[in-house]
Amino acid sequence: MFRKLLTLDEAKKILKKKFSPKPVGTEQVSLSEAYERILADNIVAPLDVPPFDRATVDGYAVRATDTFGADEDKPLTLKQCGQVSVGEATDVIVKNGTTAEIVTGAPLPKGADAVVMLEYTVQKNGAIFIHRPVSKGENVMKAGSDIRKDETVLKKGQMLSSREIGVIAALGLTRVAVYKRPRVAIISTGAEVVEPGKPLQAGKIYDINAHALSAAVLECGGQPVSFGIVPDEKDKLKTALKTALNSADVVITSGGVSVGPKDLIPQLLDTLGEPGVIVCGIAVRPGKPTTIAVVDGKPVFSLPGHPTSSLLMFHMLVRPIISEMAWRRGEIPSAVKAIAATKIFSARGRRTFIMVNLAQDEAGRFIASPVPLGQSGAITTLAKADGFVEISEKQQFVSAGDEVMVRLLKPRKF
Ligand code: AMP
Ligand code: MG
Repeated sequence: MFRKLLTLDEAKKILKKKFSPKPVGTEQVSLSEAYERILADNIVAPLDVPPFDRATVDGYAVRATDTFGADEDKPLTLKQCGQVSVGEATDVIVKNGTTAEIVTGAPLPKGADAVVMLEYTVQKNGAIFIHRPVSKGENVMKAGSDIRKDETVLKKGQMLSSREIGVIAALGLTRVAVYKRPRVAIISTGAEVVEPGKPLQAGKIYDINAHALSAAVLECGGQPVSFGIVPDEKDKLKTALKTALNSADVVITSGGVSVGPKDLIPQLLDTLGEPGVIVCGIAVRPGKPTTIAVVDGKPVFSLPGHPTSSLLMFHMLVRPIISEMAWRRGEIPSAVKAIAATKIFSARGRRTFIMVNLAQDEAGRFIASPVPLGQSGAITTLAKADGFVEISEKQQFVSAGDEVMVRLLKPRKF
């Protein structure tokens, strides 16, 4: 049967109409599990940070006015009235004409309002010679100057990196509310596909897609759940799909979507629930056989078997859905402007994605060189590519020297 393929934009539109991604709930996690999670609530400081006025240098706690007029050659003398250490409260009181020895991080004693650095003092027979004046507040970190009690320090929707996790720890909190990661089932198909680590018999290949796709799911905030490798047999595929649909929020399969006799996925997807297949083939290269179904409210993305195609289609169609469900909003896929190194041809009438490798010339401009796709199964294409250039259905080629936008597969350092 000849069927007119949908364009990529039409496919996206239909998907949007049939499935609207929503967050899958929230959960409490400990700080050690919080990395790269998305805050589900504002965090309001339950206390001041620091909790007390503290010295930021080793030296002598003073009343600033007592040091006015001190000079390198003409020091002022103060009488030592005590010592303050870290980690404990102090009952030392600094009165006029006196000073207390203090170390970095120790609470400023009552009466004092500044600290003179040890370097500008000399101790002789119980007298402290002050060789430099300090102003009020100098070398002191005021209570609440970093974070004020009741201040909103982190906002709902923020991603937690080392910096934010540090802030949460400063507040003494041990658990935070974050959005749940959507569970994404991953199924590989094909009698030729074998799990890495097992012996490779004649005619077999190792499963690339399950692992590449799992990592891609993690990259956009999902929780990959492996459902293994299923041979192209109707019953086994059906059971695997049903089990996956029962326990996951999104299902991804790879392989078995072309038009060969073993390509059973599209017809099976129509028997599992409503509305079934909504997109069956897209006018893109690579990635044409990509099939999308919605089964009783859950999306199933059946990607081509070729690793490069499947990862590219994941990027185009699946990533935005998982990101939205994971509440990773406003994450912009990074892109850089580059100069095409060679003439690049598109596939006539199809949205074409050309994998490219980036280099920088002396002027700092990025130069995009196509990575030969070969048979789109080549995994090395993926490993060599920094990103891809998109050529519209209407454009036949990009000339060498033209400016192109390269969408990065992953941020890269140059
Ligand atoms: P298919 O779409 O099932 O016809 O597969 C297309 C090509 O991709 C075939 O050469 C498959 O062997 C290969 N392929 C399918 N699944 C995988 C996989 N999980 N890992 C690596 N290659 C695969
Ligand atoms: Mg197959």
